[in-house]
This record gives sequence, structure tokens and C-alpha cells, in this order.
Amino acid sequence: MTDLIRISEIFGPTIQGEGALIGQPTVFVRTGGCDYRCAWCDSLHAVDADYRETWAPMAPARVMAEVARLSGDRPIMVTLSGGNPAIQPLGPLIAAGHARGYRFALETQGSIARDWFSDLDMLVLSPKPPSSGMVVDWAGFEACRDAARGARSVLKIVVFDEADYLWARQVAERYPDLPLYLQPGNHTPPPPDDDGAVVDQGGLDARMRWLVDRVVGDGWFSATVLPQLHVTLWGNQRGV
Ligand code: SF4
Repeated sequence: MTDLIRISEIFGPTIQGEGALIGQPTVFVRTGGCDYRCAWCDSLHAVDADYRETWAPMAPARVMAEVARLSGDRPIMVTLSGGNPAIQPLGPLIAAGHARGYRFALETQGSIARDWFSDLDMLVLSPKPPSSGMVVDWAGFEACRDAARGARSVLKIVVFDEADYLWARQVAERYPDLPLYLQPGNHTPPPPDDDGAVVDQGGLDARMRWLVDRVVGDGWFSATVLPQLHVTLWGNQRGV
């Protein structure tokens, strides 16, 4: 029997709002469950066990059918997000989608390596900085990087403050071969049951300007600094 995937939500097409694929049309497949609990998580509805009953166990064929319905059966980039999607058995879904011309990018903190990472088109490794309250297991992180041999791998780091920034610089020095995307963190994430919660856009813009100043001032020219475009456009709204 095929392993079922715990699905929190499937939505789109919309555009990817952050990182290396910013602006690209995509369908999001958000899985339920995470081995982390970051202080500022903006996806608690896909993390908090209180919402477990909203996560539907779905066969890969059913997930693929929903993605195809949303995209009008036209191949598109599929973004696998969470929670931590690496927890889920996504290999068969990726194989089924590739057979129909779909592409797959997966976003993970890099705590759990899976052999099917090598089948991805892009692996976005997003290790969590000190402000998250999490501690990165670098051996696990490197296992993820190594498992994604066939994929294009990139780093994405959320920055809230100076300590996060200095940490990001150390990570970049440690993994010079991984293109790095920085983004200001959202200090007004939505509670899991309120995606209408107001975003402090002025505060986000100020953090973005500070981050640009830090990167440029340090002559850190290999970094790319981007806002969370979807937050700017739609605030904390879900499904966009
Ligand atoms: S790793 Fe991501 S999904 Fe998991 S708790 Fe942290 S921010 Fe939320």
C-alpha cells in the first residue's frame, strides 16, 4: 500500500513569495507536522498538534490530481512546504509529477534527510537562526545537502536581529557553494486560527532596510536580500 501524505493544505496557483524562485507561478502543497517549534513560526496551523485533525492523509495520486486540477492540468512548479515536508513520504508524488512534466521545490530546515531529495528540482535549505530558539544539528543539515545530489540546492535564512545576521554570515562562510538568500523575519506572524492577523508592514520594511544596509555595508556581495513578497501583498492571509 502506498504511504499516505499528511496534507495541511494545497493551494494556488500563486507566485512564490520568497527566496530563489520569488515571483514564479507555483502550486503549494503544505504538509502537516514539524520536528521544530520556532518562536516565530508563521505556519502553526501546519505545526501545532492541536490542528492535527485538519491534516488529511492523502495518497500521492490524490495530491497530484488536486495539483493538476488547480493548475488546469498544465505543468507548473510545485512547492512542497510545511511544517517540515521531509517528514512525509514524498518520493512517489515527485515521481508521479515528473512523469507529467511538473517540477518540485522543497523547503525544509534541514533536520531530516531523505533519499528522494535527489529527485527534487530544487532543495531550499532554511536553517533556523538563534531567534527561533532552535539549535541546528549541522551533521543532519549536511546529510540533507548531500542527499540532494541531483537537485539545485540553495540556502534561505530568515533574519530578525543582529545575532541572526552574524549567524547567517557564519553559515555562508561554512557553505560557500550554496547560493544564499536572506529575508527579514515577520515579527507579527498569524496565530494558527487567525490568518487575518495584522502585519506590522512598517516594522518589516524597517528591518528590510536595516538588512540591506548591513549586507551592503559589510561588502557581502554574494548574498541576495529579498522581502517576503506575499506578506507585503497579502499580509498573513492564507492560501495565496
Ligand atoms: S521549521 Fe518552519 S514550520 Fe517548523 S516550526 Fe520552524 S518555522 Fe514553523
